[in-house]
Amino acid sequence: MILIVNAGSSSIKFKLFDIHDINNPSAKLEGIAERIGIDGKIKINFNQQKTETNQTLSNHKNAVEAILKQFKILKVIKNENEIKAIGFRIVHGGVNISQPCEINEEIKAIIADNVKLAPLHNPGALMAIEAFEKVLSNAKLVACFDTAFHQSIPINNFLYATPYLWYEKYRVRKYGFHGISYEFISQRMAKILNKDLKNLNLIICHLGNGASICAVKSGKSFNTSMGLTPLAGLIMGTRCGDIDPSIIEYMAKQLNQDVFSLTKILNQESGLLGMSEVSSDMRDVISAANNKNTKAQLALECYYQQIADYIIKYANQLEGSFDAIIFTAGIGENDPLTRIKVCEKLPILNLKIDNKNNEQSHNDYLKISSSTSKYSIFKVSTNEELMICNQCLKFLPK
Ligand code: ADP
Repeated sequence: MILIVNAGSSSIKFKLFDIHDINNPSAKLEGIAERIGIDGKIKINFNQQKTETNQTLSNHKNAVEAILKQFKILKVIKNENEIKAIGFRIVHGGVNISQPCEINEEIKAIIADNVKLAPLHNPGALMAIEAFEKVLSNAKLVACFDTAFHQSIPINNFLYATPYLWYEKYRVRKYGFHGISYEFISQRMAKILNKDLKNLNLIICHLGNGASICAVKSGKSFNTSMGLTPLAGLIMGTRCGDIDPSIIEYMAKQLNQDVFSLTKILNQESGLLGMSEVSSDMRDVISAANNKNTKAQLALECYYQQIADYIIKYANQLEGSFDAIIFTAGIGENDPLTRIKVCEKLPILNLKIDNKNNEQSHNDYLKISSSTSKYSIFKVSTNEELMICNQCLKFLPK
């Protein structure tokens, strides 16, 4: 089995894959250990049954031990040695990492070095790695980075117009995120379209709570909407996306707050939530808009427009030569209205949606453009955990 881990400073999300059929790993259970260092709770979803146990989790090592104990209680494993590898989702690998790596002291030092670029994410990942190293010392530990796929972005697309020294000395540049999802979708599309990945150009819209767009050129990331941090680009559930940077100074003076609390507002109280004053959850915003809430209606209009604006920019950067536009993640996969509205705002691309397929539920993927559309449009389910699991398999003996 392979365990996939996404850890924060007070939580560890996990998903266990059975790899008996290595060509087709199957998810066995998933869950979360949360409130680590506060009190502690473990929630597990196994065989369509949910279990929830309260127990003291004073640190990440305690949490890892408690998770494994639950696996045994549920009879998912008899023995820890059945877990052959652990794949960690790591948010930031900086400029040094462009592919999954087996974790060693050097990789841990790189993750630690990038804490300053991802202070909310990398420390939790490091704590989880160290906990698993102690508790499951025989397993292979593999790190998969959200930034890695974007290391192919050319400098003219990743550089900001700030002093060059900021880039050279402080590493201020676009890194991009959601790379594990983009890599999964690119590989999936190569199969769906029966094309060599090297010849594939795509515009992928990953629209979840966090949201970004990626232009894939010749199978590699060419540009993406998130930046130094995941705050830039599209309007998200609670994040503002692109804004004039001077707003920070202006509002600091108006509210008499420092830059840190303002950045927190831009991360946690902006986006769909901030604009609609209803919710960060797309379903709530849609339902408020349907009930004639004008702020919710306006938030949605801005949300669709921003996506369309990025698509047109990337369509231009790909010189109009791309194989498909893909919608993925919670909103991208499940909300027919977002797909219609975004495409309506792209008259230059002459997109035509097949309404029946757009509304139809899908398993894996569905083409939603009609035969008269200038470009193909798909909705495709992303599966970041499976992508990490497949990456881990490469590090295990055949
Ligand atoms: P995360 O970034 O946390 O992984 P997800 O990819 O799960 O997020 O996406 C969560 C978003 O997807 C929420 O805004 C949720 O409202 C939205 N969503 C999920 N299902 C639907 C649906 N059927 N219609 C519209 N939005 C949906």
